[in-house]
Amino acid sequence: MTVELVCVGTELLLGNIVNTNAAYLAEQCAALGLSCYYQSVVGDNAERLKGTLDVAVGRSDIVILSGGLGPTTDDLTKETAAEAMGMPLAMDAHSLARIEHFFKTRNLEMTENNKKQALVPSGALVLDNDNGTAPGLILEKDNKRLILLPGPPNELVPMFEKSVKPYLEALEPGIIYSKTVKICGIGESKAASMIQDLIDGQTNPTVAPYAKTGEVHLRVTARAADEKQAKQLVKPLVKELKNRFGAAIYTTDEDVTLEKAVVDLLLANDLTVSTIESCTGGMLAARLINIPGVSEVFKYGYITYSNKAKRKVVGVKKSSLHKYGAVSAQVASEMATGPAMISKADVNVSITGIAGPDGGSAEKPVGLVYIGCCVKGKTTVKEYHFMGNRAKIRESSVSAALTLMRQCILEYFSEVTFGKQD
Ligand code: ATP
Repeated sequence: MTVELVCVGTELLLGNIVNTNAAYLAEQCAALGLSCYYQSVVGDNAERLKGTLDVAVGRSDIVILSGGLGPTTDDLTKETAAEAMGMPLAMDAHSLARIEHFFKTRNLEMTENNKKQALVPSGALVLDNDNGTAPGLILEKDNKRLILLPGPPNELVPMFEKSVKPYLEALEPGIIYSKTVKICGIGESKAASMIQDLIDGQTNPTVAPYAKTGEVHLRVTARAADEKQAKQLVKPLVKELKNRFGAAIYTTDEDVTLEKAVVDLLLANDLTVSTIESCTGGMLAARLINIPGVSEVFKYGYITYSNKAKRKVVGVKKSSLHKYGAVSAQVASEMATGPAMISKADVNVSITGIAGPDGGSAEKPVGLVYIGCCVKGKTTVKEYHFMGNRAKIRESSVSAALTLMRQCILEYFSEVTFGKQD
């Protein structure tokens, strides 16, 4: 079944508010196994809304609208939807009683305008609004369905959870089951190209790539009569993904993050860790320390931002800083080996780079980052070129450091080799 989203509001068109309803609804519909091919935003204008609705109803089985159900004259969604479906408005006693109750319990005066919110297209299903006055509505005709939801997210989200989700689930009985294959060290476009043949012509199960900073998640989803059958459908595709991505997959567990996978690896191999950070200023340590139980393995987190700190705290050579510069493979290597560190861990990870916006040059541009990882004396240093603003470059550096730690530990303890990564 196909679903289409239409968000109504001039504020959205002007960029005054962010369309979080569209993101929420799209994610929910995908999780329900509905295919969403189109989303539109249209202002508070009856003619343009009617045009948008006609197109949407013509090409999709279900159209979900958000916004424009309020009491003012620019709230036109209900009137326009009723007209599009040929279902004239009539007063709904149940909704009117609820709206009256809403105002009475809050000691607020109810205006004539508010009564307008109790007008519903005849034959529509009315969805109670527990957090506001505008009821939601479902209009059904000739196998087409319009679902009208109030714009405020604190009204829309609970209404979707309570009424719309069960309604949509009942339209296509069965269950949706997904498994996420999480990959690090391979960029989004490369990952997508590696599964293009699986994406082309897929029906059930489906696989969809989602890019995260420094990671790609592949979500495999199946629809079936019950969970057992759905799992059977998902299994061979997950196996195929494991064949293709191998050790780049760090987990298939929904709850495991990259930092959790790294901490688990440290715990499993009885390894302690220290971080020596320059441009990321402690962000790597913070991500590791997010994980409960990390105290078993985490030794020290150094922030060696200045050259002096690099020299005094970890023992980077003055001559190396002078000859190669603070952002260099040599300095990243010396930070990771850290001859002056008060107590070395089994795994020492260093990050030094240019996060910008200033400080770049033709030879060393903004986004150039070196990450070093020393596992029990074996040191690896990699050079990266990240894009984006300061925050993005720092975030990418941390994800890359976690990925490199994982690779170096796996390579140290097993036969796995990762070669050149994205
Ligand atoms: P109300 O009864 O409050 O008038 P409504 O259904 O008429 O609700 P709108 O008037 O379109 O909804 O929007 C009300 C408020 O809801 C907006 O000012 C905005 O804060 C929020 N809102 C509306 N649409 C969206 C959206 N697509 N994403 C996020 N927030 C939204």
